[in-house]
Amino acid sequence: MIAGKVTHVPQRPVVGVLALQGDVREHALLVERAGAWVLPVRRASELAEVDGLVLPGGESTTMSRLLVSFDLLEPLRQRIRDGLPVFGSCAGMVLLARQVLDGRPDQQQLDALDVVVRRNAFGRQVDSFETELEVQGVEGNVHAVFIRAPWVEKVGDGVQVLATVVDDPLSEAATDRIVAVRQGRVFATAFHPELTGDERIHRLFVRTVSEVA
Ligand code: GLN
Repeated sequence: MIAGKVTHVPQRPVVGVLALQGDVREHALLVERAGAWVLPVRRASELAEVDGLVLPGGESTTMSRLLVSFDLLEPLRQRIRDGLPVFGSCAGMVLLARQVLDGRPDQQQLDALDVVVRRNAFGRQVDSFETELEVQGVEGNVHAVFIRAPWVEKVGDGVQVLATVVDDPLSEAATDRIVAVRQGRVFATAFHPELTGDERIHRLFVRTVSEVA
């Protein structure tokens, strides 16, 4: 370093993990590995502290209920409207969507992504599976774990498709299904990067959080 020259030291952002239910610890580990401080979020005062938020895999209907009972639903909607970067995996993707098909009638949506998702979309035989995926923005394949996963059935204009998977490889009617998307600062995957210990997708997200913070 040249003496006297001002160098830019990037701040380590604070990334929250919604800690009401689901794969909280697994996400927290990868958030740290991706270079951010991690803060479990259970109350509005904690939500106010974070530069970005991860919504873990788990069960979207349960998380939706807990968001209401922990008085987090409206504060979270507001922070997202104000531009908070968010990343949801699986149940997190369901929560972020504008609309959910095959959800429960009382299930709340965060309406952060202009997509329609179908909950538990892959059907019985393949309701859980693992496969190698190409994900835009990540070099090399990603080992993707799907557990009663949703898929994205419809995307709005501003939504970038990051990954697709064939829904039923043995069938003649096999179709490519959208399983990872991005809309500006909002990321979602139908699979669980938190379960494989591969932090590359978290790195993509943390990079966005750092740019905004
Ligand atoms: N099927 C669950 C839901 O609707 C998601 C499953 C998961 O996150 N592994 O929320």
